[in-house]
Amino acid sequence: MRIHHLDCGPARPLGGALMDGISPGAIGRLSCHCLAIETDRHGLVLVDTGLGLRDMARPWLRLPAVNAALLRFRLDPDRTMLRHLRRLGHSPHDVRHIVMTHLDFDHAGGLIDFPNAAVHVMAPEAKAARARRSWLDRIRYRPAQWGDTARWRLYSDRTTERWFGFDAVAELEGLPPEILMVPLPGHSAGHAGVAIEGPRGWMLHAGDAYFSRREVHERLPGCPAGTAAYERFMAWDSRLARANQARLRGLLVEPDASLAVFCTHDPVEYVAMAVWQGNAPAEPRRVASAA
Ligand SMILES: [Zn+2]
Repeated sequence: MRIHHLDCGPARPLGGALMDGISPGAIGRLSCHCLAIETDRHGLVLVDTGLGLRDMARPWLRLPAVNAALLRFRLDPDRTMLRHLRRLGHSPHDVRHIVMTHLDFDHAGGLIDFPNAAVHVMAPEAKAARARRSWLDRIRYRPAQWGDTARWRLYSDRTTERWFGFDAVAELEGLPPEILMVPLPGHSAGHAGVAIEGPRGWMLHAGDAYFSRREVHERLPGCPAGTAAYERFMAWDSRLARANQARLRGLLVEPDASLAVFCTHDPVEYVAMAVWQGNAPAEPRRVASAA
């Protein structure tokens, strides 16, 4: 198994350190941290897809206007999952499975770029996304990004399996036991982390269960004010989200829990994980072939 950490929708929001806690000027950085996992027997597996090629080309048609204005994505097709994979020598048809933390527009935009992949998603998330009942659900879920939904594989959150004390869905259809889903609802109705046992031990891609490393990796949790406001704005259930953050903090202080936990949008975590895994995040070079 080989794991690549890829930023598939970098954003440059106004607000500097109010957004990321580190940038000195007016412009902050947020990552869209996705994974491409080369497995021995199950082909190429993605965790989330970030923005897709069509989102980059026509953002005003496909992305929610308020969110896109706040986040200011870098609309560069070279930063999509599809182009990252091409640079790694893979065709989009090599992608057999996509495990989704949730179906928000900034995570599901690339689904349509990988038509041959089964899409694994928690059932409550699929239900909320299809119904788009609330104003927030109509903003966050964009059906034009999904492609054929007959390939969705849905999982109940009523599970008896456990992973480091958390409920877990351990048997994902067609995937090895080293990849499982860990329900962490709150940000959205069926939000889940994705746990992977790789060559360097366990890691948990926590998706948008938190937005800043300070929310789970510090004893006194905090979050830059701008990002905290965006997190509250997008939360399906803030109280549940905070409760799951507290559980993750508890997990990280366990002396026996030797594992890496990271979220989607913290740029420091993204760089740290990419370097630790041995795939330093380089500026993408232009490739001759079109997508
Ligand atoms: Zn997100």
